[in-house]
Amino acid sequence: MGGYFGIVLMATTGAVLLGLERLWPASRTQRGEWVNNSAAFLLILLAQVLLGAFWATSETRLVNGLGGGLVDLRGLPWLAGAAIYLIAMDLGEYAFHRAQHAFPWLWALHSLHHSDRGLNVTTTQRHFWLDPAIKSVSIWLAVALLFKVSQPMLTFYVVVSLYNFVSHANLRLGFGPVSWLWNSPQYHRLHHSTDETHYNANFAALLPIFDVVTGAYHRPRPGEFPATGLEDRAVGPLEVMVWPIRGVFRRGKASLESQPIG
Ligand SMILES: [Zn+2]
Ligand SMILES: [Zn+2]
Repeated sequence: MGGYFGIVLMATTGAVLLGLERLWPASRTQRGEWVNNSAAFLLILLAQVLLGAFWATSETRLVNGLGGGLVDLRGLPWLAGAAIYLIAMDLGEYAFHRAQHAFPWLWALHSLHHSDRGLNVTTTQRHFWLDPAIKSVSIWLAVALLFKVSQPMLTFYVVVSLYNFVSHANLRLGFGPVSWLWNSPQYHRLHHSTDETHYNANFAALLPIFDVVTGAYHRPRPGEFPATGLEDRAVGPLEVMVWPIRGVFRRGKASLESQPIG
């Protein structure tokens, strides 16, 4: 699947969800950080091109094409192979996300995603521009080296992954007693919550079962849609660009502002 087709799919999904957010919002008062989120997404796209990095599925296709892929799933019925590939990729994403919260240097990058106080569909791609490159040499590479898959299996994962936009949407939608089965806007909202009773919970991208087995599962209560974000926030696109070292610039700015004038 071409990169352009993926971008068209993302744009279409995003547009539909933006409409639904107007109709059925989890919060009517929160303000979306459209400019910062758009800047983050554009920086990611630019960084991917400049660094010659890959996306999850394009990396699998390349590594498979070069002979990589320890376990050949192509002989299985395509849906079975697609399910195994999806579970492996989602487990990789889960492990990486846990690492982003466990290691300070990774949190320094990932905190950009969490600093959005107006969680909505545009937050989905609000990640630091180096993140995809780090995934390219870790989890995405590991899955590509492990499995040899067919194009329909890759396409299946790309399409299902669009669900990440749903999980981040400002939508009053949860799955109640079956929250453990599949991620939802309510379930992921708790991961972004400012309420400390929700800290270190609900890390899953698609499959909350990984939270259940690691003890990080927090089932949302009916009507529970907490405020989101961090104390620290990006004040503009320039801070999005230099997020992990924004303190250097803030100190510089503060010292300039404290200079006596004249
Ligand atoms: Zn997180
Ligand atoms: Zn998120």
